[in-house]
Amino acid sequence: MAAKSLGYRVVVYDTTPDGPACSCADFSITDSFGDREALNRFAEAVDVVTLEFENIPVETLEFLEARVPVRPSASVVRICQDRVLEKQFLQNNGFPVAPFRVITSAEELAKGLASLGTASILKTAALGYDGKGQIRLLPGDECTAAWSQLAAPRAVLEKKIGFVTECSVICARSLRGDTLCFPVQENIHVGGILDVTIAPAALSFWVAEKAQQIASSIAEKFGVIGLITVEFFVLPDGSLVVNELAPRPHNSGHHTLETAMTSQFVQHVRAVCGLPLGPVELRSSGVMLNLLGDLWGEGEPDWELLLGQPNLFLHLYGKIEAKPGRKMGHFTLLGEGDSVTQKALSLRRKISQSDVML
Ligand code: ADP
Ligand code: MG
Repeated sequence: MAAKSLGYRVVVYDTTPDGPACSCADFSITDSFGDREALNRFAEAVDVVTLEFENIPVETLEFLEARVPVRPSASVVRICQDRVLEKQFLQNNGFPVAPFRVITSAEELAKGLASLGTASILKTAALGYDGKGQIRLLPGDECTAAWSQLAAPRAVLEKKIGFVTECSVICARSLRGDTLCFPVQENIHVGGILDVTIAPAALSFWVAEKAQQIASSIAEKFGVIGLITVEFFVLPDGSLVVNELAPRPHNSGHHTLETAMTSQFVQHVRAVCGLPLGPVELRSSGVMLNLLGDLWGEGEPDWELLLGQPNLFLHLYGKIEAKPGRKMGHFTLLGEGDSVTQKALSLRRKISQSDVML
């Protein structure tokens, strides 16, 4: 949608017919990520390839890269789709990460847990998202069952961090090599899923500055073209730990559609199409709340209540089936301060309870 707003024609490659992006495309190609004939057709149809989902096989991206620019590149995606490589990349380049161990067996898990010696989180190396593929462990916990429950060949075991808050920075890097960060936003997760984002984050100038500096350095180290999102834990003393990276627009940046001079989506398109980056200042503070499938428990939520609010922007993704934990949409309420967050939370409670109250 952002690309089309700049007058580009868009071809979508998806593995399932009628994927949500297909409805916005000039045309789409539906095939597996391994179908070379289809990938060739795709490469011939486009001037540049980008992605909004990092779990595309690296071989697919390399195949395309030999034919057409792919931004972000296969080498960046390779690292971001694998927690082991991502953690090692961050550590090797001097970025602060939680103490961790690479785990490939129940024995290594037992050793790792003992050597970390604290509450820890076991995370699958590949394909984890929204807190899925994670198991929380305490020293002495039984490791054989935990390892078989994870059902993954490789994992990271990391120290559970006692953070005061979480935040993220979305950094764009252009073809010319300029980097530009959106203001830092604060993120509140519930059950491992992003629940609320507050923009800008109520962090001291120095902490916010440092988070942006780290995000820019990561973008430069990667030489990424496009967006890179960096998730952080903020410790009680104000120091920062990098949690994870995403080489694409991010859920914590959805508020930029209404709050920022340039949305994260337009910024991504600008970067990958070789245009200059847009201004990242916020025109308004705001709070973004995710709408998970759980809200559909009492039937379709009461959208009219939200649509009647001034300064509230509702986005529904058109997913057919509402499942618990599934991101069905979000809304952003413009305004600043705790009272705005409270109002947004209260509205979200009300839209799911309207049937109950009747
Ligand atoms: P996902 O890919 O599912 O977003 P994350 O690693 O970001 O995976 O974990 C999801 C959430 O779980 C984090 O935002 C945070 O709230 C919590 N979490 C993850 N790792 C840690 C940790 N080491 N210490 C404390 N909380 C954590
Ligand atoms: Mg995360």
